[in-house]
Amino acid sequence: MMARSDFKIIVVGAGPAGLLLALLLSKQGISVTVLDGADGLDPRPRATHYGPPAVRELRRAGVMDDVLAAGFQPGKICWRKLDGTYLTGLDNNVLGENHPDRVACLPLDQLGPIIAAHLAKQTTAEVKWGHRVTGLGGQDDQKAWVDVLMTGGDGQTTAKRLEADYIVGCDGANSQIRRSLHGDLNFPGKTWDEQLVATNVYYDGFGDYEDANFIIDKEHWHMASRISTDGMWRVTYGEPAGLSHDELRARQPAKFEAMLPGHPKPADYKLANFSPYRVHQRLAPKMRVGRFLLAADAAHLCNPFGGLGLTGGIVDVGGLSDCLYGIYSGQVSNPDAILEVYDQVRRQKYAEMVDPISSENFVRLSSDPDTVLSGGEDKFLTLCLKAEKDEEFAREMALGINELLYDFTQHFDLKKGRE
Ligand SMILES: Cc1cc2nc3c(=O)[nH]c(=O)nc-3n(C[C@H](O)[C@H](O)[C@H](O)COP(=O)(O)OP(=O)(O)OC[C@H]3O[C@@H](n4cnc5c(N)ncnc54)[C@H](O)[C@@H]3O)c2cc1C
Repeated sequence: MMARSDFKIIVVGAGPAGLLLALLLSKQGISVTVLDGADGLDPRPRATHYGPPAVRELRRAGVMDDVLAAGFQPGKICWRKLDGTYLTGLDNNVLGENHPDRVACLPLDQLGPIIAAHLAKQTTAEVKWGHRVTGLGGQDDQKAWVDVLMTGGDGQTTAKRLEADYIVGCDGANSQIRRSLHGDLNFPGKTWDEQLVATNVYYDGFGDYEDANFIIDKEHWHMASRISTDGMWRVTYGEPAGLSHDELRARQPAKFEAMLPGHPKPADYKLANFSPYRVHQRLAPKMRVGRFLLAADAAHLCNPFGGLGLTGGIVDVGGLSDCLYGIYSGQVSNPDAILEVYDQVRRQKYAEMVDPISSENFVRLSSDPDTVLSGGEDKFLTLCLKAEKDEEFAREMALGINELLYDFTQHFDLKKGRE
């Protein structure tokens, strides 16, 4: 078995998924170029929590020590009524402080720079900013290529065609790679009627709130989570569709006063970020077309109330890095077959886990808080009640999401896998 010295991967998109894929590949000696149309890392704070399977991949990439130095391991997650009444919850502390798979919390605007700094140390990786992919060039039985518009420091643009053995679209929700492969509007699923407003806020009135709190209420449903060790919280709440950014901004003080413990006025807190989002549940028809592959938001979207968007994306790129490593190292004699397994497994895990879990929690938040625990109808919350009395079961529940992982090295010819 000989590694191919001319093997090259292009990753489109230097978001967290693209950077992590490039890091995992380059640490195995694979030559990888990351193209991004922007001129630097996306500064929006978006994701904050990374579930156990994502933590495993971040650890494998060698970045977890830095993630935990900047962030922390949240304790309990719970569901409450608007008046603060505790309903039930799941305690990550049952895993113990040193469990390697514990959920980690760090706002995305801090995770991106950590992965980028590790990637910068890899000699076989490069990140090219100002390189916007405008479409697929094509592919044959040797290579694939993309059309790129490069913007220089003087603002001048130059069109270019770049080629590689495989090209991976990690170019986010509006992925050009996905649209070129499947059509602009071919991203099956749905857009939720409600829009979400994600805020970061410093407020010291959360009292006995746990690290993560989902508030069930027909009108003022929301999530409040501690997201830093210096007192910053993420408060994400729903608003009707159709309101403009200015209208949402004008309504924010009244929403906080109605929702948060202590009914604070604007002088009582410091708003550090305010970002409205439309949210979707969508899955691309295929995550592989020949030498073009999709991963993370480019391939699938979900609402953020399951903490599964980037968690699922990170698991994609972990698995894909194994498939590509197997091809590069000569341990996979049928590249098409293993990449087809990648497509099938990752789409199945989205359909059977990410989509239902995140959708159920979204719907749960606007259900009736007085009846949600009665009659065992909400199976998940009923399991949480059981876990509160059974520590072994609580540990199982805390790690249940590791079912998102899949070992693609079992499809290597000799099942030797990756060191
Ligand atoms: C409010 C909110 C909270 C969230 N919370 C969580 C959470 O707690 N946990 C979780 O797991 N997930 C969460 N998510 C989801 C998570 O933020 C996303 O899944 C994640 O950011 C997607 O990363 P990505 O690398 O796939 O895409 P992106 O971060 O969108 O990166 C895409 C990159 O591609 C580049 N690009 C785009 N088009 C082109 C092109 N044509 N050519 C070249 N480059 C291009 C962009 O410039 C960008 O750098 C949350 C999302 C939101 C909105």
